[in-house]
Amino acid sequence: MVSLISQIHIEFEEEDQLELMKKCSRKTVSAMVYEQMLFNKYNLEDVDYFNWLQKLKLKKKVEIFWWRLGKAAIPTNMFLKNRRISTDDWCPRGCQVSETYEHIMVHCKYMIDAIVKMGEWGISIPVFSSLDCCLRGLKHIAQNNSGIVQIYCNIVYHSWKNRNAVKHGKGALPSSMVASNALFSAISNSGPYLTSWGANLLRKSQSTWCPPPKDWIKINVDASLLSSNLVGVGGLLRDHKGRFISAFGKKGTHWNIAQLELEAVFWVKDFLKS
Ligand SMILES: [Zn+2]
Repeated sequence: MVSLISQIHIEFEEEDQLELMKKCSRKTVSAMVYEQMLFNKYNLEDVDYFNWLQKLKLKKKVEIFWWRLGKAAIPTNMFLKNRRISTDDWCPRGCQVSETYEHIMVHCKYMIDAIVKMGEWGISIPVFSSLDCCLRGLKHIAQNNSGIVQIYCNIVYHSWKNRNAVKHGKGALPSSMVASNALFSAISNSGPYLTSWGANLLRKSQSTWCPPPKDWIKINVDASLLSSNLVGVGGLLRDHKGRFISAFGKKGTHWNIAQLELEAVFWVKDFLKS
């Protein structure tokens, strides 16, 4: 190949000049920059979007979904209509509006239902007024609280999966299932911030107590069994800042520590009722 190219005779004696490759549009550079900016806006694509997305450390499936959103490569009904693959651009869930990226990421009623459900569980996830606000807001929140952003990204992904099921003739999952799937997939793939939302201690540090989400109460119980079959069971209730709320303890006799630990959990129920 090199020898073939070097055989080409060039009769050009002027100085070499830089030229924009593949651009013979006769547009000025500023016109091309403007056009690119519009293109980027339409595609959600800005310089930091993909860096930002990578730092969120989402589950790979969710990250690829958001990456495809950034590349305008998710086949919403609007996308299919623009390519003349479909004649109908409405949301298949029945929202009676065009199914744009803004719709599936910000406005779809069924996605918002999942966010509301999450709020009922004590995890407050923001609702945005536009795609611009959503992207700016998520980037802003991610600086201090990437857990909320991870959950948001997962809600959009699971809501899209649910929408696909409906579009292909299957039944829709209720919003509580979409919310719990989103929460589970956000927690199961996250760093210590969200891991600590679970009931278990961090695996790396058995001695660290991890706070529950805001406005939740965490109850730790323990049981001990002596060789004399005397037992002690105790529990401690703390809020999300680790502040003491209440405690209980009970003595008795028992012979099986596994059974006893299980019963300790039931004693929590009795204690809460009393
Ligand atoms: Zn919709």
